[in-house]
Amino acid sequence: MSSSSDVVVIGSGVFGLFVAWELAKNGRSVVVLDRAPVGTEASGWALGRLDPLLRGSGSTGETEQDLPAGHIAKPEAQQELALLSYNAHREMSDEIEDVSGIDIQVDEQPTLQLFYSQEERDFGAEYASIWSEMGFKSELVSADQIRSMDQRILTTEFGGVLVQGPYFIDSLNFVKALAACAKAAGARLETASVSSIEDTGGGGVIVHTDQGHYDANTAIIAAGPWSTELAKPFGVDLPVHPSKGEILRLQPPEGEGFGMHVHGPCSLVNKKDGLVWVAASAADSGFDRTPTDGAEKQLLEYARTMMAESANWPIAQHTVCFRPATPDDLPIVGSVSDNVLVATGGGGSGIVQCLFVGRQVEKMVTAGESEPAATMISMSRFGQ
Ligand SMILES: Cc1cc2nc3c(=O)[nH]c(=O)nc-3n(C[C@H](O)[C@H](O)[C@H](O)COP(=O)(O)OP(=O)(O)OC[C@H]3O[C@@H](n4cnc5c(N)ncnc54)[C@H](O)[C@@H]3O)c2cc1C
Repeated sequence: MSSSSDVVVIGSGVFGLFVAWELAKNGRSVVVLDRAPVGTEASGWALGRLDPLLRGSGSTGETEQDLPAGHIAKPEAQQELALLSYNAHREMSDEIEDVSGIDIQVDEQPTLQLFYSQEERDFGAEYASIWSEMGFKSELVSADQIRSMDQRILTTEFGGVLVQGPYFIDSLNFVKALAACAKAAGARLETASVSSIEDTGGGGVIVHTDQGHYDANTAIIAAGPWSTELAKPFGVDLPVHPSKGEILRLQPPEGEGFGMHVHGPCSLVNKKDGLVWVAASAADSGFDRTPTDGAEKQLLEYARTMMAESANWPIAQHTVCFRPATPDDLPIVGSVSDNVLVATGGGGSGIVQCLFVGRQVEKMVTAGESEPAATMISMSRFGQ
């Protein structure tokens, strides 16, 4: 079988689908290829936290390790992208729901960042005022104030900061909604496993799959942590690797749920599905999909330090997925050859970043540029 279109997108995760939607809306014929159903990988299993401000518990990049002790905010290099991406969600969530007819389960609940040291409290005080100036209501709270919000929350003498702004969506519904939006704009979604991509120069690209080949003017590799393999034949060594993330979903007893995202050693949040999500672990163990006892034990221990009883609630689900991780925890967008682009590297924040990244990629295709205008996500920062 063979097929031809303006653009072939490889990967129906959030990165690929949003690019596909943008391109289809702008009149391009687009085919999205994936070997698995929509939402099979990280885009369907992520926590769904859209947070422009605080560090993520599963971040693994080198930048994270350079931060001073107690630093609760995102590293400076990630702040601009985080805010632009968050604002894009705020602008688009109604449209995504309207066009797709899918409820992405926008879930506004305050975030309580717990402090475990004086350094964290000092950083918290500094950032609470910065965040408030940015329009995100943030207030330092004492241990007593935390106990009065919910006496089950375990706090140290250093208290915490209560922030309004970060919120949650359901990742699986979100990625399905993006698929529906892309289809509504005319994109075709097909099941095919891509084995290689051939750039024929003036003639565009041929994408080889187990279902035959697909001809197009442009191919976009948006295959999450598998993008590295697809880019290799072009002589590009993408610094993207799989960071394994495990999440527990706990079933709280009837009436014992809670209404704020508690953030300490990881996230503890009662989502709209009624379950309490404990997220997430991070490990470099390739593409091993096995849920581990080690991660389960660690996540329950983290949960216990934030709300003791939660660690005894039954585990309703234990999931595994892979972050497309980069050394600086920022996405990678650029050309690997004349007609082949790559868009990956969302790491632990790809759900929030995908709208901003997708718009950049759409502009590159339309304008024929090899690099995104937003240099912070450009592949050239790694000398590629
Ligand atoms: C535990 C965990 C929690 C997270 N929580 C959050 C969060 O709260 N907030 C947030 O913003 N982000 C979060 N993330 C990050 C986010 O999930 C990812 O960054 C994002 O989903 C990556 O999207 P993607 O489209 O690049 O890749 P993926 O979702 O991995 O999609 C890639 C697709 O490419 C397909 N594919 C790969 N190779 C081929 C091939 N050869 N042929 C055909 N198809 C192929 C795969 O089947 C897959 O569907 C989390 C990640 C993890 C692991």
